[in-house]
Amino acid sequence: MNAKTVKLDGGLYFVATPIGTARDITLRALDILASADVLAAEDTRSMRRLMDIHGIALGERPLLSYHDHNGARARPKLMQYLAEGRSVAYASEAGTPLIADPGYDLSKQASEEGYLVTSAPGPTAIATALTLAGLPTDKFLFAGFLPSTKAARISAIEAVREVPATLVFYESPKRVASMLQDCATVLGDRPAAVCRELTKKFEEIRRGKLSELAASFKERPPKGEIVVVVDRAGQSVVNTSDIKADLREALGKMSVRDASDAVAGAHGLPRRKVYQMALALDRDDD
Ligand code: SAM
Repeated sequence: MNAKTVKLDGGLYFVATPIGTARDITLRALDILASADVLAAEDTRSMRRLMDIHGIALGERPLLSYHDHNGARARPKLMQYLAEGRSVAYASEAGTPLIADPGYDLSKQASEEGYLVTSAPGPTAIATALTLAGLPTDKFLFAGFLPSTKAARISAIEAVREVPATLVFYESPKRVASMLQDCATVLGDRPAAVCRELTKKFEEIRRGKLSELAASFKERPPKGEIVVVVDRAGQSVVNTSDIKADLREALGKMSVRDASDAVAGAHGLPRRKVYQMALALDRDDD
């Protein structure tokens, strides 16, 4: 057993757990799991399995279930333990709690009520994917899971189109091909990486243009857990006369707004800037 029992102050301890390989847990996380008065988990079976792997006995300690669907009912009990001065350790099913996982309301209420709220940091698929994607990491936006219906997904992608940062999405293997295709249409054919089964036996990183990745996953749908990382909009590597030529052609077939959307998307350029150019061209041609 790697864990040691330590004296914990009363309070709420968020504990990050592995996203694949069980030994990716930190020694401090093990100590907290071995020592907390009360344990709570999104999935109590996964928590028991993890504790078994690392030789941590639950003993007489309570292990409560706390997830998105029972949070409002389960929170008062956890708050009561905090009020009694107990140490409560919470882990989500995998990775860092609150990152596309439960824990936000619990964290908020416990801190608003003045209890110690702290974290044993560890794995998260966001950081692991960014480390491996081969795309800039100076600034990134975590966009979570996109909506599953096409119209809502397109709007959500449009909302991040002009963000000057690398985009990170969580996605299900079933939807990844159509999500990549929608990203190519809305964002332009940017460089991207699909990071699959991170830290597990079949870990795989595929890099390429969004349209290439979409085509290859459409042909062979993937299995497992997936993070999609997409480069930010291009820094105007296209010259202005090319953009104008494309706009003129598009304006012959569609409205100013649609033409600027299409050309901005194709070149990965900010929509507003291309729209201004389209308006000016449209005026000149009148
Ligand atoms: N809390 C977790 C974290 O810190 O990354 C995320 C939980 S969220 C419910 C699950 C999603 O995270 C998966 O659908 C996938 O998009 C991503 N994910 C989790 N583990 C992963 C892994 N090993 N490889 C790739 N993606 C993973």
